[in-house]
Amino acid sequence: MVKETAYYEILGVKANATNEELKKAYRKLALKYHPDKNPNEGEKFKAISQAYEVLSDSKKRELYDRGGEQAIKEGGLERDFHSPMDIFDMFFGGGLGRGRSRGPSRGKDVIHQLKVSLEDLYNGTLKKLALQKNVICPKCDGRGGKKGAVEMCQNCRGTGMQVKVHQLAPGMVQQIQSVCPDCQGQGEKISAKDRCKNCSGHKVVRERKILEVHVDKGMKGEQQIRFSGEGDQEPGLEPGDIIIVLDEKEHSTFKRQGMDLITVMELDLVEALCGFQRTVETLDKRTLLITSYPGEIIKHSEIKVVLNEGMPMYKNPFEKGRLIVQFKVKFPPNNWISPERLPELEKLLPPRQEVIIPDDGEECTLVDPDVAAQSKPYSNAYDSDDEDGMHGQRVQCASH
Ligand SMILES: [Zn+2]
Ligand SMILES: [Zn+2]
Repeated sequence: MVKETAYYEILGVKANATNEELKKAYRKLALKYHPDKNPNEGEKFKAISQAYEVLSDSKKRELYDRGGEQAIKEGGLERDFHSPMDIFDMFFGGGLGRGRSRGPSRGKDVIHQLKVSLEDLYNGTLKKLALQKNVICPKCDGRGGKKGAVEMCQNCRGTGMQVKVHQLAPGMVQQIQSVCPDCQGQGEKISAKDRCKNCSGHKVVRERKILEVHVDKGMKGEQQIRFSGEGDQEPGLEPGDIIIVLDEKEHSTFKRQGMDLITVMELDLVEALCGFQRTVETLDKRTLLITSYPGEIIKHSEIKVVLNEGMPMYKNPFEKGRLIVQFKVKFPPNNWISPERLPELEKLLPPRQEVIIPDDGEECTLVDPDVAAQSKPYSNAYDSDDEDGMHGQRVQCASH
């Protein structure tokens, strides 16, 4: 004997109902009292869900049968109740009733890449981007055919989904939901003769659209420019956005690092020692003249900066970063001067340091390193300096 029958009564079944009968009862009632169909019957929908949640679980049903609703409360099961909508979704495999009627009201965003040069980002520019997008067919106003020619799909009754029930074993069924093959999920059909010729019944047509993209001074790669509501149009949906993502092209002279611009300047040894004058063409086609002051020595790998010649700041373009100049000093090749004239050069250079040579010093020969024979990490450490003009000048001690 069961203590209470309230849950059974809510579902309209007898106290000895089988699982199959419980499911059938729940299916019928849940569809009837679903908030989409019966928005004022929220409490009823909730009661059906709770009753089904308890009775469909053999342990909870046993507890209820013995002690009624009080036992469910005392067992703390009430706190674990799922929301009525979760129960519904779990039962119907998710989505039915919820998916279509409350589905996305906004179309997808569309992303396009736009290649821009460093000059574009420095000076700002207006780019025209041609793209294809779906627009509501103007001939049929997005109906897909003549007025009144649209019929509800009989196969899915307008839901666009088809539910198949498989019996896995007696008393055990599986529901499989799939897109309706008759209407491809549209929920409606238009007979061939009434179909709009312009869009072939698709309701939308592809259209070429020119977007004017304002690239502002100081923008950078990966930055996004959003065009609200310019995405693909679809009947009944608010169109999504078109998002332009900037793709910064590499520059032959400058490398960008935030607001700074980096350039490499190669100097001959004479320039590094005796002074130099060089020009740099800026991204807005001005010519910068860079002059070392007399007596200044530029060392290999040394860095100097020119203030306010970097990239402009986004939204504040009068503020500019730095131009960073990385110097590379090119040493003269071997035997550039005859050995007899070396003392002449030496006289001009700072004096050399005296070296103390002990009696047991071992003689070494300097050879060019055979890069291939080097262990990998060692050669890598030097490879990064490969363009520094010191290539092959490494010192190695070969004992014999
Ligand atoms: Zn259909
Ligand atoms: Zn049309």
